Amino acid sequence: MRIDILTLFPEMCEHVYSESIIGRAVSAGIIEVHAHNIRDYTLDKHNRVDDSPYGGGMGMLMQAQPIYDCYRALCGELGKKPHLIYLSPQGKVLTQQRAKELAAEENLALLCGHYEGVDERVLEEIVDEEISIGDYVLTGGELPALVLMDCVARMVEGVLPNEEAYARESHYNGLLEHPQYTKPFCWNGKEVPAVLVSGHHANIEAWKREQSLRRTLERRPELLAQAELTEKDNEILHKMRMSADNLE
Ligand code: SAM
Repeated sequence: MRIDILTLFPEMCEHVYSESIIGRAVSAGIIEVHAHNIRDYTLDKHNRVDDSPYGGGMGMLMQAQPIYDCYRALCGELGKKPHLIYLSPQGKVLTQQRAKELAAEENLALLCGHYEGVDERVLEEIVDEEISIGDYVLTGGELPALVLMDCVARMVEGVLPNEEAYARESHYNGLLEHPQYTKPFCWNGKEVPAVLVSGHHANIEAWKREQSLRRTLERRPELLAQAELTEKDNEILHKMRMSADNLE
């Protein structure tokens, strides 16, 4: 998979995708990530890429021309149109499910807005999808693009050691993950739950599933409506709800 980020701040992006797990995947050639400076494409003699909005209003808007020419140059380099996502607080909120689907794309391009946003006409021309990382507003699209890049890249085969590394994590199957512990066995007077050191795999699996259900019920009960639940899960949840009712 190749991800291209269209931005006014390429260095900010490069730092992130050259570090840690994503950095290793890039070095190993499992994924390719590139950041393109939109400013390199401006035709303005003072290198400007923004101007004031028609009709008045606060702040500046990114102009259409440099973004469009940057996108066209990328299409030329790739020999095709990538799936272009504009990171925007007006887009659909990113989910694990959407990240999973996007990981199957061969080419993704991520457009980062800045200032008050982007001239609508270029968005109409090149954008396939708008994605938001949450119902709040940031100063620019770089952090959202990096969040999306990280979330999608770790679903690409070979980036993590195996599917199990992410298939049990929160949100993958609609549940939150169970609590986890590492050495030492006793820390600050608190011991690891005994079942985890029992060596009894079936009991360990049952404990993890129950904890996962409990966490989801307590912290994000609305997720349960969409989660993949077995009959046994529903029985466990029923008992948890009953005992919570009894405590009230
Ligand atoms: N004026 C715009 C509005 O009200 O919808 C917000 C512009 S914001 C200050 C500047 C840029 O940051 C946007 O063009 C977008 O690329 C990015 N951005 C801000 N918040 C975001 C969010 N929650 N998700 C994705 N991108 C966001």
